Amino acid sequence: MSDPFVVVGGDAAGMSAASKAKRDDPDRDIVVFEKGEWVSYGACGLPYYVKGEIQSLEELVSVTPEEFREERDIDLRTGHEVVDIDTADRTVTAEGDAGTVVQPYDHLLIATGAESVVPSIDGTDREGVYTLGSMSDGKELREYVARARDGESFQQPDRGPACRYLEDCTGPVGVVGGGYIGVEMAEALAANGFEVNLFQRGDRVLKGFSDETSEYVADHLRDEDVALHLDADVLELAGGDRVEAVVTADDRIDVEMVLLGTGVRPRTKLAEDAGIELGDTGAIATDSYRETSAPDVYAAGDCAEATHVVTGEPAYVPLALTANRHGRAIGQTVTGTPTEGGDIAGTAAVKAFDVEAARTGILDPEKAREAGFDPVSETVTAKSRAGYYPEGGDVTITLTADRDSERVLGASLVSEYGEGAVHRSHAVVAALSEGATVADVENYDLAYAPPFNTTWDPVLVAAKVLS
Ligand code: FAD
Repeated sequence: MSDPFVVVGGDAAGMSAASKAKRDDPDRDIVVFEKGEWVSYGACGLPYYVKGEIQSLEELVSVTPEEFREERDIDLRTGHEVVDIDTADRTVTAEGDAGTVVQPYDHLLIATGAESVVPSIDGTDREGVYTLGSMSDGKELREYVARARDGESFQQPDRGPACRYLEDCTGPVGVVGGGYIGVEMAEALAANGFEVNLFQRGDRVLKGFSDETSEYVADHLRDEDVALHLDADVLELAGGDRVEAVVTADDRIDVEMVLLGTGVRPRTKLAEDAGIELGDTGAIATDSYRETSAPDVYAAGDCAEATHVVTGEPAYVPLALTANRHGRAIGQTVTGTPTEGGDIAGTAAVKAFDVEAARTGILDPEKAREAGFDPVSETVTAKSRAGYYPEGGDVTITLTADRDSERVLGASLVSEYGEGAVHRSHAVVAALSEGATVADVENYDLAYAPPFNTTWDPVLVAAKVLS
């Protein structure tokens, strides 16, 4: 009998692979090592848990450890950290409460995810400085919000304008980083009555989106009384034991807590120590079947690279669907059906208070040029629903294509929440996957009815303007 399929990391990529392998080959032994207590959880829901829209961390879990063990017959070992991979002996070494385990593998999946980046500035170790990368981070943040709202730990400051949501407003907080986690957390904190200061190093939030989307979101954040500090190089988180101020090159803003939303980096140490190759992005390099440089060792999810559908080059875009999709494909591969799992387009969505935004493909002109394209973009603002329909708003789409071939390269979309920017991005994703031109998109037979769009959906309008 062969050795088991061993998985390191029990979330999206790891449990997708384990579940699929067991489904396709119920006789296959599968061992999963997870260093924490949570498995198969939706970290994407954490901002809404901190906000208070989701009541318990358990609601973020799609399959419990007991269900994996009892119903899916997967040997799931929580509280076990894998500390070594020996690709010559084909073993992993894990440490848990009961001691050290050396586990042989037939196939191995590294699904160790990513970790929050903590910038190298003074003061990040002060009390009151948080990151949001794990379930325990979410728990700590929610407890902070609850304590602050109960007024147990903090004096009530003067009520700032963001306090209109609640009677028991609490004091100023800092969010460092204007990416999607920073923006989602600005909403979560403001909704709890905090006066939010958002610090962004560059001149716009959501820098992976178009300028137009960033500006729209920034204006909306300001409308929601988020104090936006753009071009703010944060130099220090000042204070005593606790953080008391965010110090930038030009300013010092008093705060009672800081959330660092300064990005993530792939968790690759285990792979590196085992001599497994990393790519130029810094994440684990794989082939199209997600196999690493070590035979029968796979990597997927936030620790690994994937191929970009537009450039054909390795890219690092740590998002949930990729982790699920590639994990599932590996589950099929290791049970005898080689499956690639597909490329990525870098499609992402974010809600910022009453605004929704999406982006997909290559938007940055420099990156497009590096990939051999001559990018040209048009921005169109069109009605989200029929003009005579009682509800509706605008959708703003920036569509980018290659000048000569007219191949669609990417899009950034923004609208009021519920007016369809995010769902409309999916038509562009299909175009990217097909290598479609703007003329092809213009001829897409999209659905139309007055409550949903205009006869010419804004995506078609954007393609028409760009063609
Ligand atoms: P992870 O979810 O990071 O899981 C890796 C697991 O491996 C962890 O449980 C870790 O404990 C375990 N592990 C690590 N090292 C070891 C070891 N040595 N031994 C044993 N176990 C180990 N994505 C989206 O697409 N949309 C969103 O809206 C979105 N929102 C997000 C919001 C937040 C706040 C965060 C933090 C992430 C968000 N993401 C979002 C990203 C998404 O959560 C990840 O892409 C996804 O969880 C990646 O899954 P993964 O299995 O690769 O890694």
